[in-house]
Amino acid sequence: MEPRTIRLHDCEFSTYIFEEEIIARITMLAEKIDTDYQHKKPLFLAVLNGSFMFAADLLKRVSVPCEIAFIRLSSYQDMNSTGKVKEVLGLTENIEDRHIVILEDIVDTGHTVHGLLQKLAEQKPASVEVATLLMKPECLQHELAVKYVARTIPNDFVVGYGLDYNGLGRNLRDIYKIVS
Ligand code: 5GP
Ligand code: MG
Ligand code: MG
Repeated sequence: MEPRTIRLHDCEFSTYIFEEEIIARITMLAEKIDTDYQHKKPLFLAVLNGSFMFAADLLKRVSVPCEIAFIRLSSYQDMNSTGKVKEVLGLTENIEDRHIVILEDIVDTGHTVHGLLQKLAEQKPASVEVATLLMKPECLQHELAVKYVARTIPNDFVVGYGLDYNGLGRNLRDIYKIVS
């Protein structure tokens, strides 16, 4: 595939993971989820905004009966910007005794997912797993078991397919990485 570069704000990005690869990997995740969640009626929690494209492409390939909800997180912004989760917004479903699958765009330090797992645990779900489009294992700062990972990447800043750079780039069908 021909490499392409784009400019968003003050930065240049070049194509990194093409849509075809993304969809192939998501298809494999959907098959795993179908195997693991038969008769469990999972509730998928897609974390907005970043996971909207991943959630749509994954869930249209999942065929077990399931429910889908969209949540947002508000976080404490301290000087170190550790992204500690303050509130889970938009979760109106009762998750007690439900099998939950969190859908994330990317797990970087893991602060966000770690905080979300703590919040959800308060409501006594039957199980909680994480499905993420991307993961940067080098950056992980928590002992997190992320069961469903479409693709691991090194510590590069990426945009596209839901992920933004200061608001831009979410609509791109491929994933781009910053040109260093
Ligand atoms: P965490 O460090 O808590 O695991 O990740 C927090 C959030 O940082 C992610 O949900 C995502 O919004 C953002 N993030 C981390 N790495 C990247 C990246 O490479 N590109 C973009 N666009 N966002 C990222
Ligand atoms: Mg996210
Ligand atoms: Mg962002």
